[in-house]
Amino acid sequence: MAGNRTFTMIKPDGVESGNIGNILQKITDAGFVIKALKYTRLSEEQAKKFYEVHAERPFYGELVEYMTSGPIIAAILEKDNAVADFRALIGATDPAEAAEGTIRKLYAESKAKNAVHGSDSDENAVIEGEFHFSANEIF
Ligand code: GDP
Repeated sequence: MAGNRTFTMIKPDGVESGNIGNILQKITDAGFVIKALKYTRLSEEQAKKFYEVHAERPFYGELVEYMTSGPIIAAILEKDNAVADFRALIGATDPAEAAEGTIRKLYAESKAKNAVHGSDSDENAVIEGEFHFSANEIF
């Protein structure tokens, strides 16, 4: 059975371009309930750990540098079928390939600087949520 929570970040480019409000509005308009929310900045150590699955990829260093380049919004979201529905809402990794109306199509600038993160499985949603939030920060 699909889980009902996912984890997201508004990445540094989404914050820098002034789209925190627009992106959160799209998320809540789509029926997601915000269970936890934080405005923060990742340390190099945190970014390396968060993206360690990509450690062997050629863009890993660039990704860590980008994700630590400015503040982010981290959030846990709740909705039926949360992981798949949220991936549909944000669109393809590369905004050039993302469907019309998706968050990445609307607000991302490139495949690297793509405005938002969305967990890719129920298991990772739990791991990523717990990476950023303690139990008393989730409502
Ligand atoms: P996602 O699940 O749609 O976020 O995509 P992936 O798991 O494939 O990649 C994780 C993140 O790495 C993406 O969201 C991008 O920020 C970044 N990324 C992916 N491909 C590239 C690339 O070719 N170059 C760089 N610099 N970053 C990339």
